[in-house]
Amino acid sequence: MLLAEIISVGTELLFGEIVDSNAAFLARELGARGVTLHRKTVLGDNLERLTAAIQTALGRADLIILGGGLGPTDDDLTREAIAAALGETPQEDPHLLAWLEGLYTARGRVMPQINRKQAWLIPSAQALANPVGTAPGWFVTSGGKFIAALPGPPREMQRMWREQVLPRLPLPSRALVHTTIHTQGIGESNVAELLGDLTRTANPSVATYARKTGVDIRVAASADTDAQARALLAPVLDEVRGHLRTWTWGEGAQTLAGAVSAALAGRTLGVIEAGSAGALCTLLADEPGFLDAAVTQDHRRLITLGLTPVTLRGDGLVSESAALELAAGAREHLGADVGLAVVVQASGEGAGHAHAALHTPELQRTVSIDWPGDPAQIRERAAVLALALAYR
Ligand code: ATP
Ligand code: MG
Repeated sequence: MLLAEIISVGTELLFGEIVDSNAAFLARELGARGVTLHRKTVLGDNLERLTAAIQTALGRADLIILGGGLGPTDDDLTREAIAAALGETPQEDPHLLAWLEGLYTARGRVMPQINRKQAWLIPSAQALANPVGTAPGWFVTSGGKFIAALPGPPREMQRMWREQVLPRLPLPSRALVHTTIHTQGIGESNVAELLGDLTRTANPSVATYARKTGVDIRVAASADTDAQARALLAPVLDEVRGHLRTWTWGEGAQTLAGAVSAALAGRTLGVIEAGSAGALCTLLADEPGFLDAAVTQDHRRLITLGLTPVTLRGDGLVSESAALELAAGAREHLGADVGLAVVVQASGEGAGHAHAALHTPELQRTVSIDWPGDPAQIRERAAVLALALAYR
């Protein structure tokens, strides 16, 4: 079993000016490849603390992945820290130096002297080529342990991880297979209750995650071969599917908007949105079947658009029946087979409510919800609420 730790380096990460998305990416990658991750650490640009962290991690893990701090400036200290932790002295590598200088020459520039340290290597390190930037990485093999040092910019880090680090690692040969089931309209505790003992086994594992689009259930299994892992997964996956059938809108890479589009089965969809800043259209924009939309921020402006439902004319208050009239209006005015409407009123004081409605020749559905949250959250939830009416 390969045990790993991730160390993200950068004062801007430590103080929260940027979010450590690299560690999240690496954690998912390691999990998918059967590597056990025990720790993620974030450190500022400080040589002493970084050196100590690498030394400590070497005592616990087989693989340490460092991200960031490979630039040319004085606060880029990852190389220095690895060298200090291993008691080795960095030396300028002529090949690496020539490669770096070549990058600058190709752009008609002269390499600044401070970049020379990017050509450093220690005896136990190999250079990792950076195909999309100037900072080369390091792959260190020492005392049966591995250290991979990758640059901070996510695009560079991800490519070098895939192309340069993965092929060098003695990855476990176990196969991991998983499927995620997406649900709507049921809370995470209720899902857990329905699944009962299924969530308590380690392999296959069944885990629930609350997402903006509802509760996701991830079923995963690992075995020596892909076929064995699939055989292990299948019965548990079927059982989970059975328990959650009523609430399931999709699996895997499917999106809720995609599920709505599939449910249209060739019919067209028209949308009327008031107060949600086009949140519903944004989700539907690329879906086949989505025909057109009318969007307004103030529901009273629907009058100007000629879409006033009768129910709005009286007191101007929004209701579920007004939403239903708007959904019918989406069919009539936009010439669509299916109409979907959402009306949102967010007070800006941490609460809001939404009404959504679906109108087809065969069926009408409505839903109303009051939520806490800021206006942006409420708009997003309202769009999901409307989609949830239309996926089946
Ligand atoms: P460079 O040669 O580009 O300076 P570097 O290895 O020195 O590479 P850093 O200076 O630490 O990398 O980071 C460069 C930029 O990469 C940061 O400003 C930030 O935008 C991004 N970055 C760094 N670390 C992370 C991280 N853990 N997650 C997401 N983005 C990151
Ligand atoms: Mg830098």
